[in-house]
Amino acid sequence: MTTTYCANHPDRETGLRCNNCEKYICAQCAVHTPTGYRCKECVRGRQKVFETATTTDFVVAFVVGALLSGVGAFIAMRIGFFTLFLAPLAGNLIAEAIRRLTGRRRSPRLFRLAAVAVGLGAAPFVLLPLAYILLGGAGIRTLIAVLWPLIYLSLAVSSTYYRLAGIELKR
Ligand SMILES: [Zn+2]
Ligand SMILES: [Zn+2]
Repeated sequence: MTTTYCANHPDRETGLRCNNCEKYICAQCAVHTPTGYRCKECVRGRQKVFETATTTDFVVAFVVGALLSGVGAFIAMRIGFFTLFLAPLAGNLIAEAIRRLTGRRRSPRLFRLAAVAVGLGAAPFVLLPLAYILLGGAGIRTLIAVLWPLIYLSLAVSSTYYRLAGIELKR
């Protein structure tokens, strides 16, 4: 067995390695992250890659996400059952549109905001008929009409998010 030393402190013996770049690091150089120990350089590089979105990107992602999702929910209300196929597709399209319009910049917060925007864009199509039902203005047919925008909402939100965040995870 050979003795290994910290990459930054050649006089310090260590068996600990950065789980990203695999170089040896001593206890002082190691940073505890949710995915294990990493060297400071990798932690810094990771943050740089993860947070490149600008303030404009957040506005664009929100407006585009909400508008496109509203259109999708409107369609879901008309096509009923086919929402099951349309919603994931809509989520992917919305995610793709946002990626292009934001210059493929990344930020976990941007992805979460986009998912929230998709939810908000579809929300009126669920809430308005629901309010109508609660006020006693409608029967079972309206209840079913609410169901599809609701299914659309949950499927579109998750597929938008995973499309955006999944691409990020691949790096
Ligand atoms: Zn490293
Ligand atoms: Zn060290």
